[in-house]
Amino acid sequence: MSQLTIIVATDAQRGIGINNTLPWKLPEDLAHFKRLTTGNPIVMGRKTFESIGRPLPNRRNIVITRNAEWRHDGVETVCSVEAAVALLDGAPGYIIGGAEIYQQSLPLADQLIITEIAHTYDCDAFFPEIDAADWQETGREQHTSETAGLRYAFVTLRRKA
Ligand code: NDP
Repeated sequence: MSQLTIIVATDAQRGIGINNTLPWKLPEDLAHFKRLTTGNPIVMGRKTFESIGRPLPNRRNIVITRNAEWRHDGVETVCSVEAAVALLDGAPGYIIGGAEIYQQSLPLADQLIITEIAHTYDCDAFFPEIDAADWQETGREQHTSETAGLRYAFVTLRRKA
């Protein structure tokens, strides 16, 4: 497994969120996220943590904030993306959002795991544009959601050497 993986679900326009929540309901994606991240550290921005509302179980939860006073049970707090990566100390970890944290961690990531949803939603948060020259697609699984009737793909990209 890669050391630092960004995991994200995007719509057809790179949209990832609206009003600090997810624009879609896609249980298959939540299951995919749980399967991959359980047992591994997850790193997120303070707003994404507030959106989830609690630490996710069976994972080390690391939250990035500029507020030195901010605390929550079951969470480790750091003041930058670099400090979060330092805390991983070389262990594999997942950056789980949101937009600000994806933007800042993209240059540091070795791998992107993207759920590409074939639909456009009203969004106010977006995944940064990626430079195709930097990334090699190493996996793509196409699916149709039984519950949401949506087409989506689980895509893996690795940083080119
Ligand atoms: P983020 O979750 O990226 O959190 C932003 C916060 O992180 C800032 O307000 C600040 O916290 C802290 N922060 C950011 N940069 C730094 C830094 N350099 N140093 C210290 N602290 C920093 O918020 P966004 O609004 O960008 O994204 C949230 C949206 O993303 C929501 O809509 C959410 O639902 C969506 N999302 C979507 C995902 C998907 O896969 N589709 C996954 C995750 C989130 P503070 O203000 O406390 O200082």
